[in-house]
Amino acid sequence: MSNLLVGGVETFSAVDFPGKLAAVVFLQGCPWRCPFCYNTDLQQIGKRTDFLWEKFLEFLNKRKGRLDAVVFSGGEPLVQDGLFDAMKDVKNLGFEIGLHTGGYRPKKLAEVLPIIDWVGFDIKAPFDAKRYSQVTQTEHLREVLQSLDMLLSSGKDFECRTTCDPRLLTREDLRKMAEELYAKGVKKYFLQKYRPIPGDTTTTDSDCETLLTDPELLQYMQTHFAEYEVRK
Ligand code: SF4
Repeated sequence: MSNLLVGGVETFSAVDFPGKLAAVVFLQGCPWRCPFCYNTDLQQIGKRTDFLWEKFLEFLNKRKGRLDAVVFSGGEPLVQDGLFDAMKDVKNLGFEIGLHTGGYRPKKLAEVLPIIDWVGFDIKAPFDAKRYSQVTQTEHLREVLQSLDMLLSSGKDFECRTTCDPRLLTREDLRKMAEELYAKGVKKYFLQKYRPIPGDTTTTDSDCETLLTDPELLQYMQTHFAEYEVRK
């Protein structure tokens, strides 16, 4: 019996693993508290859920040939002690493996990285401890940088992406982040438009757009990253 805590599943997605048709497993638990989080139900670490991993494997068995991959998302999947075994189950069925993470637990990332095919790595803020913890409301920048360096040296396919919340980030921040990632050797960087969460009554769509229409930033991205995009 798996000890994986699953908060939910998306049985079909064409957007969570580039170029692959995937099922997405949303794992329970996240140590961070980003103000733009849409998955607050998944934040509580250790919360029991009714979802049975074995049932999901049965479902996957019937999807052989129709799905390419399974993406482990969250929450923060690296919270889960049973992550490696769950990924192995999926790999044994012949599916590729994707991971969405903020990189908060490098030790766990090191354990699972060998069987992962692709990673979507969230970058929350410029690499400054104070700025990072303003977004995550924790202090894990050191771990984030360790995880990113590990990914870079692993040679695995991955992308970095940032949710561009104008309450937290400025145009200058985004430029700085792009420069920092480029300097580290990141090849793919994507900016995601923030969609105001329920309860955010002050941020307008125009605030979100303005942040993403900085010609200098867009030109920098175009000339420095092999792949980049503003996802709206
Ligand atoms: S890391 Fe993701 S799941 Fe965790 S609080 Fe931030 S947005 Fe929510």
